[in-house]
Amino acid sequence: MKNIFIMVMSGICMMPLLTACGNSADTVHTADLFAMDTYMNIKAYGKDAEAAVTEAEARIRALEQTFSVTNDASDIRKINQADGQPVTVSADTVSVLQTAQEMHHESGGALRISLYPVLRTWGFTTGAYSVPEADEIAELLQNVDDTKISVDGQTVRCPAGMEIDLGAVAKGYTGDAVMEIMQAHHISSAIISLGGNVQTRGSKPDGSAWTVGITDPFAPDMLIGTVSVRDKAVITSGNYERYFTGEDGRRYWHILDPADGYPADNGLVSVTVIGSCGAECDALSTALFVEGTEQAVQHWRRNGDFEMILVTSDGELLLTEGIAADYNAKNEMPCRVVQRNEEP
Ligand code: ADP
Ligand code: MG
Repeated sequence: MKNIFIMVMSGICMMPLLTACGNSADTVHTADLFAMDTYMNIKAYGKDAEAAVTEAEARIRALEQTFSVTNDASDIRKINQADGQPVTVSADTVSVLQTAQEMHHESGGALRISLYPVLRTWGFTTGAYSVPEADEIAELLQNVDDTKISVDGQTVRCPAGMEIDLGAVAKGYTGDAVMEIMQAHHISSAIISLGGNVQTRGSKPDGSAWTVGITDPFAPDMLIGTVSVRDKAVITSGNYERYFTGEDGRRYWHILDPADGYPADNGLVSVTVIGSCGAECDALSTALFVEGTEQAVQHWRRNGDFEMILVTSDGELLLTEGIAADYNAKNEMPCRVVQRNEEP
């Protein structure tokens, strides 16, 4: 009798567990990590979620080594220290370089990976921030020219004295790599945040869209709104993400305008790009931030396989027409929807 009681009780206790395990969508696995100089979070649902998340973490760590500007063994250090000689790099680096080259072209040079020496002199890569002398910036700019970097198969040549940094694209590419792992593990529901770059796979386990918060650039602990997405990357570049205040009391941020080597200040304080490819969205968010309001809108009209949410420095929100219906405002910021066809 006692044994039957125990069997019945354990049967009852087992039931919820079996139910939870029986429905693969209910099995969730998450990981928090610090990599690529930022906090990251991975969340996957499905019976293979744990294996997928473990593999994703390892892939992120490996790509961090590949793209690092400081690690002596990284592809980027090899390129930067080659003194003009050809170097062989990984397929991952080739892919990021190609995205950067395409975006350089598409953005009229706004995205420029060879700006690295200028970024370093501002201290954005080391944290030793200071406003450089104008002469120093002008001199460094003379050796900034992405068109002189050649990629042939897995062989890269970068002229002596020129150095690159893939910081504007690498996290988006890394997100794509994580999503490939999710696909290989048959995960149909996953969301990752790589330092604020959000990428989603499928929808939430209940079939509804993912909700992604858009930070208020004027109050970064608040949201200006949220967007509902499925299978999309939502990637933001803003002037509030990494900056310092100079002795002159001005704010200097980490996205530089290649035109003069100073923080890009062309009417935008934040650019969010929504699209299918993380690497492209990441490259775009940086490029459009540099291009500024008018050029960014023109860029979208020319090449619009993405949507965007722009916040202007005078406090206006611009939404492209393809995302307007999925945007949910959380504050009173004046908002305008930008149409595909130019208004008369
Ligand atoms: P975050 O990495 O902070 O999410 P971004 O994707 O916009 O933001 O990338 C900014 C990084 O890109 C900078 O930290 C710097 O390494 C690099 N960068 C800054 N300005 C440019 C530029 N005009 N072109 C290419 N890379 C840039
Ligand atoms: Mg970017």
